[in-house]
Parts: sequence; C-alpha cells; structure tokens
Amino acid sequence: MPTWIDTHCHLDAPEFDADRAQVRERAQAAGVAHCILPAVAADHFDGVRGLAHAQGDSYALGIHPLFTPQAREADLERLDRALADHRDDPRLVAVGEIGLDGFVPGLDWERQLLFYREQLRLARRHGLPVILHVRRSADALLRELRRQPVGGGIAHAFNGSLQQARAFIDLGFCLGFGGTLTYERSLQIRRLAVDLPLHALVLETDAPDIPPHWLYRTAQERAAGLPQGRNEPGHLPAIGQVLAQLRGLPPGELAAATCANARRVLPRLGRLLASP
Ligand code: ZN
Repeated sequence: MPTWIDTHCHLDAPEFDADRAQVRERAQAAGVAHCILPAVAADHFDGVRGLAHAQGDSYALGIHPLFTPQAREADLERLDRALADHRDDPRLVAVGEIGLDGFVPGLDWERQLLFYREQLRLARRHGLPVILHVRRSADALLRELRRQPVGGGIAHAFNGSLQQARAFIDLGFCLGFGGTLTYERSLQIRRLAVDLPLHALVLETDAPDIPPHWLYRTAQERAAGLPQGRNEPGHLPAIGQVLAQLRGLPPGELAAATCANARRVLPRLGRLLASP
C-alpha cells in the first residue's frame, strides 16, 4: 500500500473535538503516514504544536487571512517569539497558514496585506518556508514574494492559472491539490493538475473543509437536514487515486513523488522524515 503525506489539514479544528484520535487512526490505516497542521491564529499555536507532537506529525505557525479581522498586531510579536522559542523543534516546518483572500466579502485588504507582509518578514528572519492561502490573490501574493523572497513552500488549494502556477514554481513552491480535483466539473484545476510537472505537486485535504465529491451534500440535501460532509485526512489516498488516474500514473508512483516534493520544499520535514 502506498504511503501519503497530507500537507494541509486542520486537525485542531473543533469539528474534530469528538473523535480526533480515531480520525488520525483512520488516516494512518488508509496509508497517510504524516499530516502537516497549519495554525490559523495565535491562540492556536500551542494547540497545533501539542497535537503534532502527540501524533508524530508536524506543524506550521501563522495567522490566516480570514483571521486578520480579530487578530491583533501584537499577535505578530507572539508569532516571532513562538518561532524563536521553537526554532530547534524538528516538527515546526513552516510559517503558515498565511496569505491573502480576495474572495470572501468584507475583508479589509490593507489589513490582510499588513499581516502577510509582516509574516513574510518573519519567515525570512527565521529561515522558514511558507504555506500560502491563495484565493483570488495569486498575483498580489507573488508581487510581495518578489519583494521579500522566502525559501519557497506550498501554495495550498491552488486554483490560479497555469502562468501563475509557473511563477510560484519559479519561486521554489509546490502547488497543493485536494478534494476539488475529484469533481468532474473542476475542469481548470484538473487540467492544471495534469499539465504541471510532477515535481511541482503536493496533496492535501484541507480537512475539515473542501470535501471530495463522495462527501459533498447538495443544497437540497442540506435543506433536508443532512450536514455537509466533514473532510478528514483518511480521504487523501482516494484523492490521490483520482489524480493518479488523471495523470495516467500508478498511485504508488504519484504517492512517492508527491511525498518527495513535500520533503523538498519543506526541508525540516525532509530531515524529520529522514531521521530514524
Ligand atoms: Zn487551511
């Protein structure tokens, strides 16, 4: 059975409070050997670190763009301090989840930019790659990255153009693909996931979000009382099977390549998984 890495899952989310350990066990049983847990707010830093250590996984520290309205500027100092305090922690692999969201209405773009710029600065100071939230924001993210280059990382849930994808790749990034590519109507994402070079791809669930099509509930089903399906890392291998089929690759080959890619763009992850 191939082994996989879920490069982006929010296992600290309250959706998993009732059965977190079983969720992680199911993922392990399905072949997910490792999960990366990105934080979304300063109050979550201790939580993702504790969970990563308890489960043998890894984590990233950062302030998510959708959490900038309630974040304080002092949280950037907390991030700086946490990155310094845990600089020798082999399980701390990136600054993330950071970025810009141009889709959700009502977000203050300038405030998002302030947090993104400051967190790029901290990633540089602490010598860490970044995990990026990209939603209708690829060009703005790239512009800032050119001003403040970091050591690459992952553009997660990537949904931009081929040209934008190539620009991220040139800056040392892999693109994260997940549940969205399981939908036949996701033509653009499917085309990207097939056209991009294999060395540029990593896999992720973004659990509990972005359910693959087999979990998706229509508006009608939800109105009838069925909850939206909760995504979990155990679905990653099935998502990987879909991508393997789209690319005409044996799943084991795709699993090995995407794991190697994650270890390359997140060097601390590479060292962590290489050590006995
Ligand atoms: Zn996320």
